[in-house]
Amino acid sequence: MTDTRSPTGVASAARDQRLDVAIVGGGLAGLYALHRMRGLGMTARVFEAGNGVGGTWFWNRYPGARCDIESLEYSYAFADDLQQEWTWPERYATQPQILAYINHVAERFDLMRDVQLDTRITSAEFDRGSDLWTVRSNRGDVVSARFCVMATGNLSTPRVPDFKGLETFRGKWYHSGMWPTQGVDFTGQRVGVIGTGSSGIQMIPLIARQAKHLHVFQRTANFSLPAQNRPMEAEREAAYKANYPDRRAEARGSGFGVSGYPLPTQSALEVTAEERRRKYEELWQRGGSIGFLSCYNDFLVDEDANATAAEFVREKIRGIVRDPAVAELLAPSDHPIGTKRLCLDTGYYETYNRDNVTLVDVRSAPIEAITERGVRTAEREYDLDAIAFATGFDAMTGALREIDIRVAGGEALAEVWAAGPRTYLGLSVAGFPNLFLITGPGSPGVKSQMILSIEQHVDWIAGLLDHARGHAITRIEADAEAQDRWVAHVNEVADSTLYPVANSWYVGANIPGKPRVFMPYVAGVGVYRAKCDEVAASGYRGFHLTGTQD
Ligand code: NAP
Repeated sequence: MTDTRSPTGVASAARDQRLDVAIVGGGLAGLYALHRMRGLGMTARVFEAGNGVGGTWFWNRYPGARCDIESLEYSYAFADDLQQEWTWPERYATQPQILAYINHVAERFDLMRDVQLDTRITSAEFDRGSDLWTVRSNRGDVVSARFCVMATGNLSTPRVPDFKGLETFRGKWYHSGMWPTQGVDFTGQRVGVIGTGSSGIQMIPLIARQAKHLHVFQRTANFSLPAQNRPMEAEREAAYKANYPDRRAEARGSGFGVSGYPLPTQSALEVTAEERRRKYEELWQRGGSIGFLSCYNDFLVDEDANATAAEFVREKIRGIVRDPAVAELLAPSDHPIGTKRLCLDTGYYETYNRDNVTLVDVRSAPIEAITERGVRTAEREYDLDAIAFATGFDAMTGALREIDIRVAGGEALAEVWAAGPRTYLGLSVAGFPNLFLITGPGSPGVKSQMILSIEQHVDWIAGLLDHARGHAITRIEADAEAQDRWVAHVNEVADSTLYPVANSWYVGANIPGKPRVFMPYVAGVGVYRAKCDEVAASGYRGFHLTGTQD
């Protein structure tokens, strides 16, 4: 075995390594997995494609990128001294602040010596004879590992639509998820932003302030709520820190993994229109999305209940945007509110009152091509110096499908998932032993405070690996029938809600040809955790645990 450890995390010429656990991805999930596996006394190593750790927060450096969950919640809970000592300057941290936090964690827990940067894992093959994975990288690494943890992220495969002529564009173009490290100065430029999801909605107000003129190309209007971001109030921070263990415990049992939002018990239709309005106004002023998502128990299951909130937000848009035609285009009407990821903004709708901003409806006149000069829609051509694609990601399955993951002689995971992803608990895939997914499809991950869900998965996997070690188990494999039952349950829960109605990345609708399958588990993180804990307590029901075949 070659010792490839370096104190800087700079990749050395690693060739043959033997590990207990290979971890793919150096974001929040991969780093915590490394810390946990080390704590079990296992040899583990993170392989990260970027030249720094941080995952999402390393890549998404577009103007305005910031978290849409309050940072006192969106932070690791595993180390009390960390959460007590770290200070968040604003209610919602910016991308640089979160990246600084992640780098601090990496340093504080001495993680970088087992992180190999600039290394993209290209394949992973499991051998049923030895119960080992062989993981290979684009740099020639060949890693033999008992277990493989895919901490590859859910929104880590950026997607630029297949527009004709992009290569002919004379200006510069960028994607929100591959933003240049040094930033981009749009001063004096004619800029086009394509896409009005969370990324577009965050970058548009900031680009508008720099650009000479900004054209926003919108295909579908999204609901956006005010973040009401502000500097961190000392009393709020102190109150959190005095109570952190209780706050975290409450979050773990909640719907979305955030404390302060008890599960709702009242129907929106039980109360008067006046009372509902008061409530929505209060939530609007408070800021954030979780309040809306948790305000009434039928918000996400009953169209009439949902419509009351949707109309409230549309009225707000009409009240903010001065041009009624623009306001109407910005007012979403094709999906129930909350069934696509709710966006949070700072001054998004107000931006359309600026003279240097034009909203272009590419639903009625679609983009036909990118030209030398800019963007050509079915109606006309727009001259641009720069284009920012905020067109999203091949979500949830993209990063996994890009790696050739297979059992020797068998089909690749990408082929097995051709009709949509199937997992047991969103953690494991039948037919792929010793492989673990962090916040994979079939788990609440993307529908929750991600760090909480990451910690839950990593802790649960750590418990299982510890159990395996104590019982001389070398192979852990999800049972195909247990997986079928789990997939049926995930679908049943989704179908009892309004979620599947929307054409969102939750169903892969943004990727032409991707099978339409609702991927997250939406019964809530508390319910999910209880199910995972029951599985563990039962001796890992639904898994085949066996010793080596040798
Ligand atoms: P997204 O939500 O998938 O939005 C992509 C946008 O691009 C949509 O408006 C989409 O329109 C548009 N688009 C795609 N292809 C197009 C085409 N051919 N022509 C015209 N428009 C096209 O992607 P995102 O904004 O990057 O957000 C993805 C997720 O990342 C979010 O939902 C959120 O979970 C996460 N995120 C979080 C934060 C945060 O925490 N603050 C910030 C950014 C992102 P259609 O709707 O018509 O497809």
